[in-house]
Amino acid sequence: MDARKSNLYLVPTPIGNLADITLRALEVLKTVDVILAEDTRTSGFLLKHYQISKPLQSFHIFNEHKTLAGLIQRMQQGEAMALISDAGTPGISDPGFLLVREVLRAGLQVDCLPGPTALIPALIKSGFPTDRFVFEGFLPHKKGRQTAMKKLAEEDRTIVLYESPHRLVKLLEQVIEFMGADRFVSVSRELTKLHEETFTGAAHEALAHFQKKEVKGEIVVVIDGKKE
Ligand code: SAM
Repeated sequence: MDARKSNLYLVPTPIGNLADITLRALEVLKTVDVILAEDTRTSGFLLKHYQISKPLQSFHIFNEHKTLAGLIQRMQQGEAMALISDAGTPGISDPGFLLVREVLRAGLQVDCLPGPTALIPALIKSGFPTDRFVFEGFLPHKKGRQTAMKKLAEEDRTIVLYESPHRLVKLLEQVIEFMGADRFVSVSRELTKLHEETFTGAAHEALAHFQKKEVKGEIVVVIDGKKE
């Protein structure tokens, strides 16, 4: 499988379709000593589906700081670990960054497997330029949101955002307010799942579309960059 052995593997897991996992990801999950999971219950179901039985340890934003030193010590003693999140690539709007930084600081080896993440399919499906883009994750909810929107209004690269379904309409209203009603947006909902939908059009059209009924599911919003 792997020519070299790492201390920590970041392993992407499906964002909806259980078939979206690489052969190497399965191999790594079967080989490591322990799997660090954001939610051990969610990951338990996933691992059961792939018939992987490994010790699971919880690793999430609330215990991230507290557990770091202990995890590094165990890696130094020879334990190989994999980090997975509830869905997609760990470290992308999910815990992972702090652990990676500390593992590298300790002179240990980190590997990140390529695999599912929601932002890339949404970006590609938008049809907006992909040669340069900016990923902002979740915008701040209250404080700093207006400032962020003002800054993004000047951005000429394609913009990719994560948003919760109940805030989508508000975000589209803000796109209209800060970037104009004709700015093109592409909203991808429930990627790789049964009710996958991508709506691409002017911001006012997207607003009218998503105002029709309650928005459900997971959402990525892609905004065309500012044109001269
Ligand atoms: N680590 C994940 C990744 O690599 O994409 C992101 C985790 S973040 C906590 C969850 C957000 O990702 C959701 O609120 C949504 O914005 C986006 N997302 C995850 N799965 C998705 C899907 N199947 N369709 C659309 N967006 C999705």
